[in-house]
Amino acid sequence: MLAMEPPNDNTPGVKSSVSPVDIEQDCPACGLNKPRELPNYSEGKWKMVQCSGCDFIYLRNLPGYDALEDEFAWEKTSDLENLRRLQLRPLSARLSRITRWRLGLFGRSFNNVDKYFQAGNILDIGCGAGSLKFGTHAIPYGIEVSRSLHAIADKNMREKGGYAVQAPALVGIKNFEDNFFDGVVMFSYLEHEQNPAMILSEVMRVLKPGSRVYLRVPNYGSINRRIMGKKWCGFRYPDHTNYFTRKTLKRMVNNAGFDFLVLNSLTLAFDDNINALLAKPE
Ligand SMILES: [Zn+2]
Repeated sequence: MLAMEPPNDNTPGVKSSVSPVDIEQDCPACGLNKPRELPNYSEGKWKMVQCSGCDFIYLRNLPGYDALEDEFAWEKTSDLENLRRLQLRPLSARLSRITRWRLGLFGRSFNNVDKYFQAGNILDIGCGAGSLKFGTHAIPYGIEVSRSLHAIADKNMREKGGYAVQAPALVGIKNFEDNFFDGVVMFSYLEHEQNPAMILSEVMRVLKPGSRVYLRVPNYGSINRRIMGKKWCGFRYPDHTNYFTRKTLKRMVNNAGFDFLVLNSLTLAFDDNINALLAKPE
């Protein structure tokens, strides 16, 4: 199912960080191995493809999980991306960095997540440095693959009664028992996940019936992506591996058993992100 491919050192910018062995994946949504390449959106050795069976758009070849822990961890890849964007569109990239700084550490500041959850245990998957605020009634838990970010998150979460696990999400989530969480956050995370359908099944397991997931992913269906093409802010090589539209996201979360509600439905065509609630049926 997974085929190994020898490394290719021709990629500008990311050469020093390329994993010794890359993985070529089948469609993460339906498992079919019939991709057609989208050459306008491929970057160097990283091939963007669309599944001929279900239309899901994904990165064909991936760095291994080991590489993600240190070499492709969010904060370092982000530096490479910042450099790439500065070259592509200097002014807007600088503005974007300033804006992200003002919004908070690593651009993940979002203060109203807690309004969607009951009081209790809240899990932030791909929690980064744990910068999301959940309010005083939440006991925060997190999973983060980057060692350096995990250390910061774990310290903060322990002060509030929870903790963070350092692992790939699919491994880390096994630490938690069934029906443990009153809410789950996947904020700018699922686009990175190499096993998105499997992690959604695990989230279904750890979430209490009637509880919800707050989900935010880049919106591949946005008009801005069509206008900007390869310069669209949602492209991030190689750490964004899944590119969702409303339709392909809905299909994947429904397949995992969740009800699906888009929060920014009215403005979605103009929005670079899809914000959604997933609900586990009672
Ligand atoms: Zn597919």
